[in-house]
Amino acid sequence: MLKVESLSKSFGGQQILHDISLELQDGETTVILGPSGSGKSTLLRCLNLLETPEAGALTIESDTVRFGGKLTDESVRTMRRHSAMVFQQFNLFPHYTALQNVALAPQLNGKLSKAAAEQQARELLTKVGLEHRMDAYPDHLSGGQQQRVAIARALAISPDYLLFDEPTSALDPELEAEVIRVLVDLARENRSLVVVTHNMAFAQKVADRIVFLAGGRVSYNGTPAGFFSSDDTRIRKFLNVYELIEYKI
Ligand code: ADP
Ligand code: MG
Repeated sequence: MLKVESLSKSFGGQQILHDISLELQDGETTVILGPSGSGKSTLLRCLNLLETPEAGALTIESDTVRFGGKLTDESVRTMRRHSAMVFQQFNLFPHYTALQNVALAPQLNGKLSKAAAEQQARELLTKVGLEHRMDAYPDHLSGGQQQRVAIARALAISPDYLLFDEPTSALDPELEAEVIRVLVDLARENRSLVVVTHNMAFAQKVADRIVFLAGGRVSYNGTPAGFFSSDDTRIRKFLNVYELIEYKI
């Protein structure tokens, strides 16, 4: 379970997230939608404590952190163990091969020996369709391949929650499709996923839950069916941009 209670976040005196409360169940795929600047990335980063909210609380599984005072390094470490982030720009280590990128974290956190981490990396790279590219450096991989390495790397630390911030926004449609296929596989395995994306087909067909942010507030939290048939003016305006009302994909 991932629970956010009354979370608020400001930057330089300007409040970006207002009193966000959410409860996500394990095994669910949650898609966060919303216009640019609505606070999607900030919310996702708060879940991984890449940003520190000023108020509220975050619970993942049995660990809770309350915001407001100074967070201890230990509570940050404890909370971060529960999730792994996949970024729009992949963020792979350029001087490491695909295999080394995926094998690194479990060795650094002392969870696996080098041999075990490399064995796991081979399995994860095979899972994302990169068994033939394990020894390639990021520079020699397409964007879609790099993002699949980044997903394998996130999986390598066995997080409870996988967080994706627009994982396909830097990719051409063809490469986007290969990354979306991996996300669909993870969703079907009942992994717990939180995905910020503009891929409306994924949101409509794969999500268990849609969270719609507008102006830093949760303005919808419910099923995709309810979202895509909503009469709410703000939601209709957002969906009209994608012309989904006509296409009905
Ligand atoms: P989204 O991902 O929905 O496009 P963001 O969470 O990136 O939105 O940003 C929400 C708002 O917060 C924007 O107005 C953005 O300019 C502001 N913001 C985000 N990160 C920072 C930061 N590190 N410092 C100052 N303002 C920020
Ligand atoms: Mg963003």
